[in-house]
Amino acid sequence: MTWLSGRELAAEIRAGTAAQAAELTAAGRPPRLVVVTTMADEAATWYVRSLATAAAKADVGCDVIDLTPVNAADRIRTALTELSGLATVHGIIVPTPLPQGTRLAELAEAIDPGKDVDGANPASLGRIMTGLPAFAPATAEAVIRLLDHHRVALSGRRAVVVGRSAVVGKPLAQLLLDRDATVTVCHSRTRDLAAITVQADVLVVAAGRAGLIGTEHVGPGTTVIDVGTNATPDGGLAGDVDPAVAQVAGALSPVPGGVGPVTTALLLRHVTEAAARS
Ligand code: NAP
Repeated sequence: MTWLSGRELAAEIRAGTAAQAAELTAAGRPPRLVVVTTMADEAATWYVRSLATAAAKADVGCDVIDLTPVNAADRIRTALTELSGLATVHGIIVPTPLPQGTRLAELAEAIDPGKDVDGANPASLGRIMTGLPAFAPATAEAVIRLLDHHRVALSGRRAVVVGRSAVVGKPLAQLLLDRDATVTVCHSRTRDLAAITVQADVLVVAAGRAGLIGTEHVGPGTTVIDVGTNATPDGGLAGDVDPAVAQVAGALSPVPGGVGPVTTALLLRHVTEAAARS
């Protein structure tokens, strides 16, 4: 069984980002990401903090605008429109969870697609679906990059994605299709999940349910990518895949240390790419 670590790939991406950030800064266009927070949430706070640390290492500016006290949808959209108009801002993201009754796609319509570095604007998703250039959601792209880095073939192979969110499952299904995989998408209403997942050559799990995928879900030699990040009672992080799957799978991405670091690195890379095009 091979562990599909994302740490080495993330370091490679970060080095490229830091080099591009240095060039941009020298040219008087320092790249800058703005994170718009809308809810007091422990996991989101942790994510924003780790993003800010990674941005500092890559010399990418990272500001947080906290709209928690004024988080009505109109107010958030106005802020996103204003930020989109600033020449000094190159990337904008809105971490989840969001205030009740608001949907990411509706808010993210207010983000300029050229600054939509986490592919949240429906226009970005539409462009991805139709094969036009756009920033893909960083997590979905991270899965493909991790598979490529570890030389996992996709063309003609059976890929099963568990999860159909607009930020991970759906765009990932499209990216896998673009690589000529034969793709099945499963969700909470899927009947007999194991009967489907066991047929996968490549199984990607993004459900947010710790331990959802056990040995009975995985065929011998399958490549398994675990996107899930679930807080454990001891303050750690667990994936959606039961650790016992390592006894059956051919390859498995760890949590933490798999998709997560690649996602963060790609998000920052998108910021310097956006700045370079501005
Ligand atoms: P989400 O919006 O809650 O979507 C979860 C998806 O999983 C839904 O489509 C849901 O089905 C499906 N699902 C839930 N329970 C299921 C079950 N028992 N069987 C089959 N499918 C089931 O979550 P998300 O934003 O896509 O995130 C998914 C996971 O990835 C979370 O753990 C999140 O923290 C993690 N994540 C990690 C990264 C990273 O960089 N590593 C980045 C983003 C997200 P329905 O549609 O039917 O409800």
